[in-house]
Amino acid sequence: MIDKYDVVILGAGPAGYVAAIRCAQLGLNTACVDNWLDANSKPVLGGTCLNVGCIPSKSLLESSELFAHCQHGLDEHGISLGKVSLDLTTMMSRKEKVVSDLTKGIEALFKANKVNWIQGRGRLLVNKNVEVTSHDGKVSNVAANNVIIATGSSPINISAAPCDGDMIVNSTGALAFTGVPKRLGVIGAGVIGLELGSVWKRLGADVVMIEAQEEFLAIADAQIAREAQRALGKQGLDIRLGARLMSAEIQGKEKSRKVAVKYKDAKGEHSETFDKLIVAVGRQPNSHRVFESATQLVMDERGFIHVNSRCETSIPGVYAIGDVVRGPMLAHKGSEEGVMVAELIAGHAAKVNYDLVPSVIYTQPEIAWVGKTEQHLKTAGENYRTGSFPFVASGRARALGDTTGLVKILAHEKTDRILGVHIIGPQASELIAQAVLAMEMGASSEDVALTMFAHPTLAESFHEAALAVHGRAIHIAQKRSSK
Ligand code: NAD
Repeated sequence: MIDKYDVVILGAGPAGYVAAIRCAQLGLNTACVDNWLDANSKPVLGGTCLNVGCIPSKSLLESSELFAHCQHGLDEHGISLGKVSLDLTTMMSRKEKVVSDLTKGIEALFKANKVNWIQGRGRLLVNKNVEVTSHDGKVSNVAANNVIIATGSSPINISAAPCDGDMIVNSTGALAFTGVPKRLGVIGAGVIGLELGSVWKRLGADVVMIEAQEEFLAIADAQIAREAQRALGKQGLDIRLGARLMSAEIQGKEKSRKVAVKYKDAKGEHSETFDKLIVAVGRQPNSHRVFESATQLVMDERGFIHVNSRCETSIPGVYAIGDVVRGPMLAHKGSEEGVMVAELIAGHAAKVNYDLVPSVIYTQPEIAWVGKTEQHLKTAGENYRTGSFPFVASGRARALGDTTGLVKILAHEKTDRILGVHIIGPQASELIAQAVLAMEMGASSEDVALTMFAHPTLAESFHEAALAVHGRAIHIAQKRSSK
């Protein structure tokens, strides 16, 4: 006899562990199979996000921001600290503690909700059986009425820059350098490249970013991307666009080792030498080896497991969520899919609003947006109005000494419904939540304009941007409104 569950989940990242907790809350007998081991070979929950992604990177972003602020940001406040020094070992230990406190928290939640954590690699077999290979190599099977595949994604490797885990690293290695590289190369100026490049720049590295695309941050609203490029350039991030990597080679011996990089742009071929190289050229779904071919699970041509809007795969009772399926590779998108699938399995109505998935890039200034960009609206031939408000006109931003950036609202020309909100500036990651909420409620820019915001707050900039949609902003000079 093999154990049988109502639900077996493969993967305990933010998609899988959230699905497991919600399934258990709904009274379903639930097991979650996960094979993650930490640096000490100890099984831990939380997947990429908690162990080598969102959480450790935000921890280092915070620490490095404090370091940079203490060095350069306090003089104008009349505070002097003397010489500020860096203890990277302590900074890294703090990061590890932040991670382990949170992964232990998930373990406690699993216990409290009676989710059975099965340690090992899971693989879907026919008839919704799941094969588990434990860390010591033992193979066993469990059976399930429903299976949720939440196996996540991994960094893409490129043959031109093969990672050795020391000199040439992916995002995982870049979160664990034991010293600050003097000269750091980053391949890819996407989300990971910008965040990790920022961490090491603030800690003292000279950072050169080599990006294949001609356009900087093409996924963002073009005006916001321009602002970001200017602000990051001013901080000294050397971002080279339209630059295709040709090769990266480790040269020299032991302590004098360097990475020699060749790349090509419109002007020809160039060479650079770095102390470390980060490869951040995207992530790929972990769909390989997660099911036996006899199950006939359908995948798309890029290796994502094919699902419909309810995250149902081609096999009844088998669902897939998170980075292993279509859509942005974002923890919150995976978590919401996990909750939706748990509710569907329990027989409840549920859906994810894929039009309102917020995006955040944790650079300084932070960048955040939700909904359509101006490029989207122009391509779709949609008529819209724009209202924007710069942080330089915000009392709170002035008091903070952080006035770069703006809030921009795009609203439908006729209905005034908010179609997109784009923010670059202080606490953009927090500010975007009010835009998501407003849009989820179907708000018009007038609804936001008629709402009272506390003064002095950064959130008032969202209010002023909404007022600006109809030329009614108070704290910037606008063309006179007819209304
Ligand atoms: P990305 O797709 O955001 O950026 C990769 C960049 O590398 C692209 O701009 C691409 O043009 C460039 N590139 C690809 N091949 C290249 C080459 N050979 N030479 C030069 N440039 C090249 O991918 P990422 O930054 O690796 O992030 C992976 C995923 O993780 C993304 O989906 C991202 O949204 C997600 N993520 C999100 C957050 C967040 O929400 N803050 C943080 C980290 C990662």
